[in-house]
Amino acid sequence: MASPFLVPVAQLLRDVPSTYVVSFEAPFDEAHEFAPRGPAETDVFAEATLKVRLTLQSFSGGLRAKGKVEAPWHGVCRRCSVPVLGVSLVSVDERFVDERGPEDEEAYLIENDFVDLAPLAHDAIFLDLPLAPLCREDCQGLCPYCGIDRNEASCDCQVPLDPRWATLDGLRFMDFTSDESKEV
Ligand SMILES: [Zn+2]
Ligand SMILES: [Zn+2]
Repeated sequence: MASPFLVPVAQLLRDVPSTYVVSFEAPFDEAHEFAPRGPAETDVFAEATLKVRLTLQSFSGGLRAKGKVEAPWHGVCRRCSVPVLGVSLVSVDERFVDERGPEDEEAYLIENDFVDLAPLAHDAIFLDLPLAPLCREDCQGLCPYCGIDRNEASCDCQVPLDPRWATLDGLRFMDFTSDESKEV
């Protein structure tokens, strides 16, 4: 079965300028090209549905691909560690060229009159994934002392006073005052 990501563009490149709208849904990573990231990292399931809606517009020597790609992601709340689900909806505006010139380092290549939209879609989604998602904006997180989920319960923990620090503070204070007195 032909991959929906591979789009024939010979005619688009012949009739400049012309446009072609590509719209499809496909598994995000059917070939399992990407290894799953660690359990604490935001990632997209290989079988998650990737939606692609792009307009391809030809110019002399290439194509512009403009539109949106969308995929659901999963991660963990950086404050309280519960699973978090979200959707990345990314605007893309990229170029495909026959040959990369000096100003086309970022461009994708047209190969054998086809463009492969998979790298473009994967790049766009991976760049958009949140590094530190929250389960909700005002997540209270876990108490660092007793581990209680502050969203569901409260505790009486207070920042413990460490006597060693108290001593150091005292020493620093004394040094500082003695320096001061020397200068005066
Ligand atoms: Zn949370
Ligand atoms: Zn606590």
